Amino acid sequence: MPELPEVETVARDLRGLVVGARITGVRVSWLKTLRSGDVAAFEAAVVGRTIVGTSRRAKLVVLDLDDDSAITIHLKMTGQLFVVQAGVLEDPYIRLVLAFADGRELWFRDIRKFGRVGVARRSPVTGDLEGELGGPKGFKGFGPEPLDPQFTARVFRRRIRGRKGRLKPLLLDQAFLAGVGNIYADEALWAARLHPLRSAASLLPADEGRLYREIRRILAEAVERRGSSVDDYTAPEGDGSMQEQLQVYQRAGEPCFRCGRPIRRVVIGARSTHFCSWCQRLPAGDKPGAATILRGMEPRAGSSSSTPEGAIRTGPRWTEIGGADGSLGTPTGSTRRAAGAAGSRAERTKRAAATRRAAARAATRGGD
Ligand SMILES: [Zn+2]
Repeated sequence: MPELPEVETVARDLRGLVVGARITGVRVSWLKTLRSGDVAAFEAAVVGRTIVGTSRRAKLVVLDLDDDSAITIHLKMTGQLFVVQAGVLEDPYIRLVLAFADGRELWFRDIRKFGRVGVARRSPVTGDLEGELGGPKGFKGFGPEPLDPQFTARVFRRRIRGRKGRLKPLLLDQAFLAGVGNIYADEALWAARLHPLRSAASLLPADEGRLYREIRRILAEAVERRGSSVDDYTAPEGDGSMQEQLQVYQRAGEPCFRCGRPIRRVVIGARSTHFCSWCQRLPAGDKPGAATILRGMEPRAGSSSSTPEGAIRTGPRWTEIGGADGSLGTPTGSTRRAAGAAGSRAERTKRAAATRRAAARAATRGGD
């Protein structure tokens, strides 16, 4: 699922494509894509409005309109956004379309149909988003943005010190921290040398500091690299490259880059979790509870780390659709480039894996 860096990349890519565009029409082909389920109400809210900005809150893309309202788009598992010229033949996975006055359209493509589009308002006082969103607290239910300058180490300490529970589920909790998901939680915990099942209460001040720094460092690097293009994620201006830098995520069985021992994969709260049991030790006090969770959760023998778990795909990647290039995307032809690159995706992944293996060998020889 796209997380903070991926959604941030989508919002940034869209800025140059949709800011200034006036919405003249709406097409909804999967009703549940609309949070309200009410096409007429959505139309009334957005048609005639001009998009004045794009941003991100947690894992939502936000399109600000010229009347202090905003369209919010949660990509969920497989959501993708593209800007195309009107008249291009839609593929069956386009769930919602915004038509613009200039003859272009914004397409929301979503193979698995979990994505949601809503309308929110900006508070004139605080500028915060309010209104339509799942959950009783709406936007107020989100925790702080990890890359916000106001999210200091002190703020992080204060938040984590009151928490019970274990680190991995805590990092995934959007009320604790907004935008972190499975990939970057695993990466941050490995980098900070903290076991995913370690209890938040057991952290020493140095552990808290390391975790805070690693969360921010990894998210910032991932934004810089346009996110991790694993599973279905791609952005309007093309894929990201952070997947080539990931240290533990989807590397079960491959050597740890620090110690060379195999990366383990367990399922915690229905989410697969990747870690090194040597580099990420559990303190004695956390072991009894963790043992219960870990028991019987090892991957079956013969399961391959090259098969991304949970990546059930029922449709082609956008870039795999034939005959689409040339008429899609921006006038710069970035979609054409993306389509051309798709053929070599497997090759690139293979090369990245080989590079990682070489790095692991070097690290092991270095005796770190
Ligand atoms: Zn290790």
